[in-house]
Amino acid sequence: MLILHDFRVRQRDYLLEISRAMTAQLDLSEVLRLTLNASVAMLSGEMGLIALRDVNGNYRIRATMGVENQNIETLSEQLMDLVSHSAEMDRAQLDERLRLMAASLNPRLKQAIAIPLVMAGDPLGLLIVFREYKGNATPDDLQILQSFADQAAIAVHNAQLYAGIDQERRRLAAILQHSADGVMILDPDLHILSFNRALERMTAWQAEEAIGLHLDDVIQWERLDIGDITQSMLNGWPQHNPHEGDTTDDNTLYVEGDLLRKDGLALSIGITYAPLFASSGHLVNIIANVRDITNFRKAQEMQSIFISTVSHELRTPITLIKGYAGTLNRDDVTWNPSIVRDGLTVIEEESDRLNALVDNLITASKLQTRHQLDINPDATHLDEVAARTVERFSKQTAKHTLELNFPTDFPIVHADEVRIRQVIDNLVSNAIKYAPEGGTIEVGGYYDRDTMTIYVQDNGIGMTETEQARLFERFYRVDNALSRKTEGTGLGLYLSRAIVEAHGGEIRVESTPNEGSVFIFTIPR
Ligand code: ADP
Repeated sequence: MLILHDFRVRQRDYLLEISRAMTAQLDLSEVLRLTLNASVAMLSGEMGLIALRDVNGNYRIRATMGVENQNIETLSEQLMDLVSHSAEMDRAQLDERLRLMAASLNPRLKQAIAIPLVMAGDPLGLLIVFREYKGNATPDDLQILQSFADQAAIAVHNAQLYAGIDQERRRLAAILQHSADGVMILDPDLHILSFNRALERMTAWQAEEAIGLHLDDVIQWERLDIGDITQSMLNGWPQHNPHEGDTTDDNTLYVEGDLLRKDGLALSIGITYAPLFASSGHLVNIIANVRDITNFRKAQEMQSIFISTVSHELRTPITLIKGYAGTLNRDDVTWNPSIVRDGLTVIEEESDRLNALVDNLITASKLQTRHQLDINPDATHLDEVAARTVERFSKQTAKHTLELNFPTDFPIVHADEVRIRQVIDNLVSNAIKYAPEGGTIEVGGYYDRDTMTIYVQDNGIGMTETEQARLFERFYRVDNALSRKTEGTGLGLYLSRAIVEAHGGEIRVESTPNEGSVFIFTIPR
């Protein structure tokens, strides 16, 4: 009786030691070693092993006791063989196999007791103790071994869960770090807990500096357009809705504006704040997703400039066409033929202008998606093209003197005549528009071995360097009193550059405010 009592005490002590090791979060091999130690000792065995099942269903020996290193490989093979055939064997055959396994380790060993490690019906591994006893294990032996196997199964299961969680954690950290969007994790008091790389780029704050600070210290607004997290939180955001799981989409908060970066620059951003609740309902974290919306803003701005310039530009010819058509159509007046012809000429010219405007818009929109303009080059006399432009525009202005300046041997070049004419027309038209006092406009050209150059020079209002830098942008118009009252869409120079570049050439401007400008383009010969 006393012996049995001692025995139970020892068993209990071992179990206690194992569970202590488990709660102290020692690594799995340590827990397996302790379990195996206890099993071999309690069953008065000589040797033992624990094998664990891997993801492919193969059993790998993870702990041994008393087994010499050189025997481990053979033991592994025997174990694999045993496991793969165990389904076809009855108990007696299985015991016989185990006995052979024991004998191959050491002829003295007569018995092997094997217990599966099982957790919630899942086979996790196998615990085997080898003994010198003949015959089979008693129910007591099995019961003891089972108690240790159960502990080991829990430890293995925990380790697997932990490894799974750890992997998930690392995966999340990698996603967070490498996300193209800025991501921040905040505590419920809006202190920053994590700060990814994209956010470092957007804010010019380093993660180490930002972590621990309050959100307001890092996200400072130069201008706040939509939303305000502090205000929303005072108003009770976020509300936890227990019927809809932990996070709900309509619980997010959107804030948008111009961020004042740490380096003093500004950046347009949009932040989506999403609350994360614990199952008990209290707020655990707020996840902030930050997006750079500069391009979106630019597109919006472009769109509104586009709508206002286009509607303005369309209105002028439409008003003229409608006015003349209405006048000529009056049945109470008989117009004399010269007035009718003048009126119809205006209608025709204004329709051409509308047509040209629509063409330019279509070309500009194609350029936007394809980035390259199609051209049909052919042998072209650029000096003759320029001469025709000068002739046409001379008739339209009394204030300006248009001069041609080309060498007589100006060579023929391979170019798209229609498109190049559009460029020269546009430059001459601008020279007239932006020299309202009149003056001389010179259209000339020169060439060398590789290139042909054409220039249009005026003595008009000129422009500053900042204005020159943006001149060739789509829809860009210098903002001054003259351009406000002068018609234009800001597409002329944008399209001119696209045409010249499609020819493999370049266009540039030299200008001095109040003195004049010269636009120069070069195309390869
Ligand atoms: P727009 O239809 O407004 O003339 P452009 O693209 O041809 O569009 O020109 C863009 C802007 O560049 C004009 O609005 C004007 O402010 C400026 N600009 C163009 N040509 C000249 C020039 N010769 N002198 C001064 N400013 C010019």
